[in-house]
Amino acid sequence: MWNMDFVIPSLLVLTVLLIFYFARPRLPNQLNRAFLFLLVSDIATIVTDFLATCADNAYHSLPLWLVSVLNLLFFLAYILRSSLFLRFTAVLVKLNRVGFTWPKALSYFILLVCEAIVVTSPLTGAVYTVDAMGYHRGPLYVILALSSFAFLLLGINLLFRFRKSIRKSALISAMAYHAILIAGNVLRILFPQYLVMNVFCLLAILVIYLAFENPDLYITDRGPAFNTRAFTDWLDDPQHRKDGRILGFAIRNYNDERSMYGGIQMDEGLGLIIAWLKKQFPDLLLFYLRGGNFCVAGAEDTEWEQVRKKILERFQAPWQAESVDLNLSATCVEIRLADRTDSPDRIVNTLIYALDQARDSADIEQTLMSEETLRQIDRQIEIKRYLDTALEHNTVEVFLQPIVDSHTQQIVAAEALARLRNDRGELIPPGLFIPIAEKHGSINLLGEQVMRKVCAFIRDYDVLGMGLRWINVNLSPIQCMHSNLPDLFSSILTEYGVSANQIHLEITEESMINYSEQEKQIESLRQFGFQLALDDYGSGFSNLHQVKKIAFSNIKLDMKIVWDYIHDRDALLPSLVHAFRQMGFSITAEGIETQEMAEAMAEIGCDYLQGYVFSKPLPVDNFTKILQPCSE
Ligand code: C2E
Ligand code: MG
Ligand code: MG
Repeated sequence: MWNMDFVIPSLLVLTVLLIFYFARPRLPNQLNRAFLFLLVSDIATIVTDFLATCADNAYHSLPLWLVSVLNLLFFLAYILRSSLFLRFTAVLVKLNRVGFTWPKALSYFILLVCEAIVVTSPLTGAVYTVDAMGYHRGPLYVILALSSFAFLLLGINLLFRFRKSIRKSALISAMAYHAILIAGNVLRILFPQYLVMNVFCLLAILVIYLAFENPDLYITDRGPAFNTRAFTDWLDDPQHRKDGRILGFAIRNYNDERSMYGGIQMDEGLGLIIAWLKKQFPDLLLFYLRGGNFCVAGAEDTEWEQVRKKILERFQAPWQAESVDLNLSATCVEIRLADRTDSPDRIVNTLIYALDQARDSADIEQTLMSEETLRQIDRQIEIKRYLDTALEHNTVEVFLQPIVDSHTQQIVAAEALARLRNDRGELIPPGLFIPIAEKHGSINLLGEQVMRKVCAFIRDYDVLGMGLRWINVNLSPIQCMHSNLPDLFSSILTEYGVSANQIHLEITEESMINYSEQEKQIESLRQFGFQLALDDYGSGFSNLHQVKKIAFSNIKLDMKIVWDYIHDRDALLPSLVHAFRQMGFSITAEGIETQEMAEAMAEIGCDYLQGYVFSKPLPVDNFTKILQPCSE
């Protein structure tokens, strides 16, 4: 007699899983399909197990062919289920992508041979027989356990081989369901009358559900849209990459709008947008990528132009939340996936970068991303990677460019300029990585590294002996406004034993947007003994009155106004320099490329000169070499 205590509860739990599985949005990807097959095969196995067991118990009152067929169906389902666990593992480790086929071939072979033995059993009696005395096991009944073990061993082999291609937590979960299935097989052999295998399969399925299939892992908490993780998984499917397009759109000024309307109302608005999109485009997949960024995805032959128009048109009208009308505007970008050969993570990054750019662009009607724009975004992502690595390993380089006295043309100071290198050892100019560092919040760390390296240089070399009176260090506006900057910099000075008057801090004119706010910070830097220079003067819109109010000691003329003067020598620049000098500022002219320029700028009263005619920015070792002759 069989004990069926486990069968009914297992079936009920599976039904709940199945309902949940279908009730929530699900990505149409291979992993989900593999799980669905597994779920259905498990239900089929349990149902046929139940029916076959009932038939075996009541064989005397049933036609023998029916008892035989029910057993046949159960054995078929049982072996299929074991193989589907392996299939799930194979999809999990992305076996199909590696073109590594022997485990696949072997698993099909085992499956076919075992199923063939089962199918022919009514004739051969290999796995089971049914006769007037009821159901009996055949000599090859053991193939049920053997095939199951074989599939499990193949699965473990896959996990071991591809352990690096999946997340560690995924690997642990996969090992866990393999262990559960092995335990189930062993107990089934030890206690055959209990039908325990179904319970262990159910446990394995629960582990899979919780670790990989729980829809909540893939759905954003703003509404029934998929999240970034789901988006990455979707992009990882080769089919979608062959024939897919994504249309991303961003809410303009999302952070400002969020602080204006408040988090609760904005979240409500996001929910409304998601609900509207789902209703309008039921055939497209909808993702919410946080920060006011959405994305709809689908096949290339979708009417993308219509989708884009509809979305932008809808944003012309307010989104009516419970207590407020949200007036939002959106901007779109499209990416054709067939053109992209890079990893899903990179595509997600590209899209988010592209949306960030589109958000700030004046062109709301932006359409398909041009190849050039995508390449540019790729380059930015690459630079960010180099930047992150350099910051992590403290390998940001500092180059020094001499600043000379305009009368003697002797080097009296230097400007420190940050440099990064790519994998090939080529230099990346700051014009490319400083804006990225500012945007991604790493500018403070970068500035700190530069400051430390400058202090180390001053400590390690006899700078005064070499004629260097100070080193200029550039400050980004974001860094400048950081409240702990004065404390941080002065503690670095103490650490390296450098005096504050050996450092001049440069702040660009362009960044002096709000003089009154910056005044306080600059004043406190001055109190720590730093001198301040106004960099790139002439590139922004400061008036003399504003400049006068701030305690700068030096004004650096932007190279553009220097070059303009050289081309057209009017009286404007000389009188400006004169006025500044009257106000007590010293003047540095940047971008001096010829001796003639040097003389002209000295003539109009500039105190210091900086430019390629003296030297380009150099690595420290090369810089000290050009210094030594000056000090003799
Ligand atoms: P900047 O502070 O105005 O630095 C002067 C820039 O002009 C440097 O470019 C320098 O190489 C270049 N230059 C100097 N003399 C000449 C010349 O005769 N002709 C021409 N055509 N160019 C000349 P670089 O090194 O590419 O730096 C660009 C900007 O990046 C800097 O402009 C500065 O604003 C920023 N930067 C550089 N390093 C740092 C840093 O450590 N922190 C911050 N926040 N910004 C930095
Ligand atoms: Mg500068
Ligand atoms: Mg400058």
